[in-house]
Amino acid sequence: MLGQVLLAGSRSALVRRTVSGLPLTRKVVDRFVAGEGVSEASAAVQRLVDGGLTVTIDHLGEETRDAGAAAATAKAYLTLLEELRPLDLGTRAEVSVKLSAVGQELSDSMALDHAREICAAAAANGSTVTLDMEDHTTVDSTLGILRALREDFPSTGVAIQAYLFRSEADCRDLAVPGSRVRLVKGAYREPASVAHQSKGEVDKAYVRCLRILMAGKGYPMVATHDDRLISITELLADRFSRAVGDYEYQMLYGIRTDKQESLAGAGHTVRVYVPYGDDWYGYFMRRLAERPANVAFFLRALGGK
Ligand code: FAD
Repeated sequence: MLGQVLLAGSRSALVRRTVSGLPLTRKVVDRFVAGEGVSEASAAVQRLVDGGLTVTIDHLGEETRDAGAAAATAKAYLTLLEELRPLDLGTRAEVSVKLSAVGQELSDSMALDHAREICAAAAANGSTVTLDMEDHTTVDSTLGILRALREDFPSTGVAIQAYLFRSEADCRDLAVPGSRVRLVKGAYREPASVAHQSKGEVDKAYVRCLRILMAGKGYPMVATHDDRLISITELLADRFSRAVGDYEYQMLYGIRTDKQESLAGAGHTVRVYVPYGDDWYGYFMRRLAERPANVAFFLRALGGK
């Protein structure tokens, strides 16, 4: 219930102005966001990589209908990738892109052109791009753009949201050689006509999708903080003879860092999703919605504790 309210708030301009203006919001945001500028992002990346983790970096921002803003977001990725180039991190530092931030709502071709530029810059770093998945109305367009990008940049990956009814079929289509699929539970508020609503149903759907990906021929990126799903991944890896390195784990910056380190210590590739930039509001509200304890943390910080 609280989660639904927060997800609704993530799309309200009034709540955005109120929350963003609270004096201590910044302190709490810092727990989930690596910083506002490229140099802060790059320092966080270096720290994580030095600690044995890998990263996927997200320049925060979503849903623009302004061609100038879309071009500015694409440019921000190019600047970031240029800044990272001398660090020579290869696939240890990839980027995640929300197509709605690079013009998807204006036209698929605009989003494709910008995404192509970002893929080319990532390729120049010996790295690659994963497309985030946003609300259900964008899935067909995102998968279409993925197909086009993979013609020139075959390692481009995509996130698939287990809560959508369609996702098992999408996983089947994508479980092919060279295909990188990040499986997530799903973070948007979706209607019952398209998505499972209860946590139990979402978790079961995640396992069904995971089984398809682990049995398939692609590269599964298991993006969850859920211990049960991580244990099930290990069982499936055993069953389908996937060695450590034939799949990876992904978690969000600032969430379950102990687990990130212990999985990496056991030899797994663990990729941390590192968001940076000043447009942190939607991302931050989705993280609060996922976990009531985060709201308590937020309120305690506001109270100065
Ligand atoms: P949950 O059932 O939410 O959590 C399991 C346990 O993890 C909790 O009990 C708690 O211990 C811990 N935990 C989970 N969330 C938090 C939190 N916010 N703070 C503290 N502890 C927490 N969603 C999309 O819709 N599109 C995307 O493209 C996308 N990309 C993602 C990329 C990565 C790398 C990750 C990790 C997630 C991404 N998500 C995306 C978000 C995802 O859909 C879920 O909302 C989020 O991962 C929480 O689900 P969970 O699997 O961790 O399970």
